[in-house]
Amino acid sequence: MKKCQYCKIAVGGNLEKCPLCQSRLIGEGEAPYFPEHPALQFRSFLYKLQMFIAWAVIIASLGMDFLLGMKFPSFPDLHWSFIFTMWVVAVEFCIMKQFRPGTASARKLTVMVFIILVLLLVTSYCFDFLWLTKDWIIPIAIAATLVVNFVLTMLDKQGNAITYLLTELFFGLIPFVVMYTLKRDMPMTWGICLMVSIAVLAAAIIFRGRTIAREFQRRFHL
Ligand SMILES: [Zn+2]
Repeated sequence: MKKCQYCKIAVGGNLEKCPLCQSRLIGEGEAPYFPEHPALQFRSFLYKLQMFIAWAVIIASLGMDFLLGMKFPSFPDLHWSFIFTMWVVAVEFCIMKQFRPGTASARKLTVMVFIILVLLLVTSYCFDFLWLTKDWIIPIAIAATLVVNFVLTMLDKQGNAITYLLTELFFGLIPFVVMYTLKRDMPMTWGICLMVSIAVLAAAIIFRGRTIAREFQRRFHL
């Protein structure tokens, strides 16, 4: 056990300096309390490496767009490097989220799908395929996320997934309400999304009714 001659305390582990006064400890050290973790160090190196590559490609794309004037032939006025940068930053954000342990999978999934769909909306608006995103990609993505989140809800014994499930159900219903109010024809895909939403909600109540009630009480302090 090491000792600090100023604070008169014994310090376990193999620390070099006193945690209280930062003076050099005296005496024999023990096995370290916090062991070295080579796998974590390697992960951290990979993380920095991919971050450096991300910055490099962002700078390269901005250079090609603004300095070299390289454009898409069909969209000569479009600064595509902004859209590209937006995507790379989003991917970096998602990777950062993945590297942070202890966040519920349902939350990660919901946040990631939401970010990707927003970026897709912007991109498809700029590149003129908004109809594809609006009528096909988004409803299918929401329906798929609902199903995956439902599975996560079934697996999560602590009941931390149901909130995200309900949030997505809400998002699945918005377009239906909007189109119903505007008396517009609803694309088939949104109809399917709505049906998936209702099926998932029913299943969640049937299989996890009690957990839902408990999680609500906990989150809203009822
Ligand atoms: Zn000390």
